[in-house]
Amino acid sequence: MTNPRPRRLKLLRWIPDAWLTTAGPTDRRSLYLTFDDGPHPQHTQPLLDLLARHDARASFFLIGEQVEKHPDLARRIAQAGHTLGNHSYSHPRFETLSLAEQFEEIGRTDRLLSAIDGRRRHAFRPPRGVLPLPMLARCIRERRRISYWSYDTLDYSRQPAEHLLSLIRRHPLRSGDIVLMHDDGGQALDLLGTLLPQWKSQGFELRALPQEA
Ligand SMILES: [Zn+2]
Repeated sequence: MTNPRPRRLKLLRWIPDAWLTTAGPTDRRSLYLTFDDGPHPQHTQPLLDLLARHDARASFFLIGEQVEKHPDLARRIAQAGHTLGNHSYSHPRFETLSLAEQFEEIGRTDRLLSAIDGRRRHAFRPPRGVLPLPMLARCIRERRRISYWSYDTLDYSRQPAEHLLSLIRRHPLRSGDIVLMHDDGGQALDLLGTLLPQWKSQGFELRALPQEA
């Protein structure tokens, strides 16, 4: 049976949080929604509207190419109080790139994001969660935090929303969970229409992950 908690988390959890994050602050009862692969001209704005209606903040791991195409959308995300993260420039298979090419992808997107939120660097989430060791080592050396997740909603899996909701019900969220979702499709919006009111009634606060310095 599918488990929303990635198996490799058992291992990744041992890496210091400043290098690789698998949980957000738990000073309050908090959930950290993250949206990958946007901004998307059709799906991002309705999601922003839904989050605003529920007074929810989140983190968006943007693809540089998409930021170039839709800078206004990226700006709206930041203006709404969400944090921007780096999800590479073109979402390639990182394991097929040289280390130099990997960091060209990261650097290029950081510059695009900086033009939007004024921050020098942004937490990085590798496409498909691929973590080649040389990349990990260089991120650590450059003090670039990798932002992972602790809970995968499988919103990209083309399963019916009802199926995913029952899976999520069977595996309840815990404070500090970093929740993986995507805003390049409509599934996240469908799921959150149901989940946000439930989570709020359970006393969860929906927060953005802390910004990088
Ligand atoms: Zn992605």
